[in-house]
Amino acid sequence: MAISIAIIGSGPAGFYAADAIQKSIENPIIDIIERLPTPYGLIRGGVAPDHQTTKKVAKKFEKTALAGDIRYFGNVEVGRDLTLDELREIYDVVILAIGAPADRKLTIPGSDKVGVHGSAAFVGWYNGHPDFVELEPDLKINAAMVIGNGNVALDVARLLVRSKSGRAKTDLPLYARDAMDASPIKDVYVLGRRGPQDAKFTNVELREMLDLSECVPVVDPADLSDEMPADMDDRDRRLAEKNLETLRAFSGIDPSGKPKRAHFVFYAQPVEILGGTHVEGIRIERTKVENGRAIGTGVTRDIPCGMVIAAIGYRADPIPGLPYDEALGIIPNDRGRIEQGLYAVGWIKRGPSGVISSSRPDGIEVAEHIAADFAAGGTRPGRDRLAELLAERGVRVVHFEDWQRLEKTEIDRASGPQPRHKFTDVADMIDHLEGRK
Ligand code: NAP
Repeated sequence: MAISIAIIGSGPAGFYAADAIQKSIENPIIDIIERLPTPYGLIRGGVAPDHQTTKKVAKKFEKTALAGDIRYFGNVEVGRDLTLDELREIYDVVILAIGAPADRKLTIPGSDKVGVHGSAAFVGWYNGHPDFVELEPDLKINAAMVIGNGNVALDVARLLVRSKSGRAKTDLPLYARDAMDASPIKDVYVLGRRGPQDAKFTNVELREMLDLSECVPVVDPADLSDEMPADMDDRDRRLAEKNLETLRAFSGIDPSGKPKRAHFVFYAQPVEILGGTHVEGIRIERTKVENGRAIGTGVTRDIPCGMVIAAIGYRADPIPGLPYDEALGIIPNDRGRIEQGLYAVGWIKRGPSGVISSSRPDGIEVAEHIAADFAAGGTRPGRDRLAELLAERGVRVVHFEDWQRLEKTEIDRASGPQPRHKFTDVADMIDHLEGRK
């Protein structure tokens, strides 16, 4: 009998797994189960709206969705509409591709003030993720602080200082685009607790800061030493050298050349968020790096700002009934295998790192496990039983053809250079599909 496979999560890791399984297992029956009506996870809700080229990988995933025996079950939440145990009873194989959707928490004094946001929430808001539409950050501010030296910090900083015409070419939902366009923001700070050699940004993203029509990048040349950490491997060294070269180019630019500035502040850790109920500034402490760790020097300074975004990484939430590695924020697994019949791919497997395509090998690995663990084929009913169960429970499943209708509407109603005008509310999506709107 064919192996019945349920993949929970329709982000890149889920689709790469579906693709790998389809290519290497004979006639698998694959169901992709997704909490939102809309597929593609981080491609839609995480990748920056001005990185439309990166979002094009969704076209590949669409091909996967339409090839072979794959069915998309959107608007189905495991934990709400059915349990993981039920799914495991129904399917031979369950693959967790659920990512690491929660923010690592900033825990300094003042982190609870109005105007402090985690990057998952802020990025979700500007990408129209239904969970974060109501964040409504106050952007009537002159300056913002972005904590962290990863690509997410760069995405946030860049969007805040982009020009209106630059934002018009994005798929920012209109509420976010209007708020950003109306913002008087002139200064964005990007804070690294260690040095530029330790920054996690990739060079292409860092160099984008040179191409902004209304903003100049600013950095203190005194922070740009050539010294590299002794234990750095050759690849990381090359990447760090490229970043240093780019930052040196920043340091030669006249900061008054354009109306806005993105300040790269290294060797500084946040110690307290200042203000009353609302953020009014942040106290940062100069650091030095010892054995790869940032150590406070006791020298502090205050930077006035009206918003703080903590872009300090993500974590996966534990799943009831499954083991959880607190330190790594993952479900412990052996190259993706949790146990016979249960597997993990993407960030829930290896933590929140890498680019979109980094999840591809995870899918290949899991396909190999399935081939070995189910050499004799499958025994469980899978799809038919799932459909029955969801119908019994009155769940309005959004299948791939429904998503295609939603997507067509998003593209048809876009105006000017806007690539799409997104749906951002689940009830609206269902109403549209049911012909009520
Ligand atoms: P990240 O790359 O892990 O960066 C997190 C940053 O936060 C690091 O600089 C880290 O510093 C800093 N940090 C952590 N805790 C901190 C604290 N308590 N105080 C101050 N700083 C702190 O995470 P990310 O930016 O969220 O990105 C997640 C993944 O998505 C990455 O692999 C990224 O490359 C990828 N991504 C890629 C793109 C793209 O390719 N365009 C876009 C977005 C995201 P330390 O190094 O000192 O710990």
